[in-house]
Amino acid sequence: SDSHFPVPVSPSHVDYSTHYPQHFSTSDQAGSCKKIQFADIGCGFGGLLISLSTLFPETLMIGMELRDKVTEYVKERILALRVANPGQYQNISVVRTNSMKYIPNFFEKAQLSKMFFLFPDPHFKEKNHRRRVISPFLLDEYAYALQVGGIIYTITDVEELGDWMKACLDNHPMFEALPSEELEADPVTKLLSSATEEGQKVDRNGGQTFLAVYRRLAPSL
Ligand code: SAM
Repeated sequence: SDSHFPVPVSPSHVDYSTHYPQHFSTSDQAGSCKKIQFADIGCGFGGLLISLSTLFPETLMIGMELRDKVTEYVKERILALRVANPGQYQNISVVRTNSMKYIPNFFEKAQLSKMFFLFPDPHFKEKNHRRRVISPFLLDEYAYALQVGGIIYTITDVEELGDWMKACLDNHPMFEALPSEELEADPVTKLLSSATEEGQKVDRNGGQTFLAVYRRLAPSL
């Protein structure tokens, strides 16, 4: 249960020095005002973070994962990469948490520029739809944490869930679909499948994927 992991009381209580020691060492005051900008929600084994780390070396990113053992595995994986590649992979970290409850404890208003929801659990039964990580209510929280122009990336191999995520985003006043030219030009798009463990599995099995990528809008006056 949630009592097994600590939850920061507010975003200012997130301990950056344990997550990104090289950026927050006492000798590097310049780095210490940086904030996390990308969040991979339900990051699983961390493949996306590892690919994004070298693509955006100056951006701090975090994976949020509910399963304890999976979180520990990702921690070890990142530490091993840091040791094998000195100076690299200093910008990624992972935290064990329930993202459906604690996003506002981790991120301030308009802090994030990208949020990822890649191959989330489908929760097929109607009575379990409230457990889906994309929902009208949770989109309010994501809109709060994202800066104007920030991007929310979703992908699934379950068509029904793909339709659901798209419908939730289409119906939300703070999001608009990214035009296809922008989606194609975005270097992150192809990583959604190729860099995630779940995407690789779908690919090996020749499965289809359903993508919904939306931008956080400015409030209308
Ligand atoms: N995104 C990864 C990928 O594409 O390879 C993992 C996808 S996996 C099917 C879904 C992950 O979400 C699981 O690792 C699960 O433990 C995690 N998860 C489910 N509910 C969560 C929650 N409320 N908070 C954080 N993580 C959650």
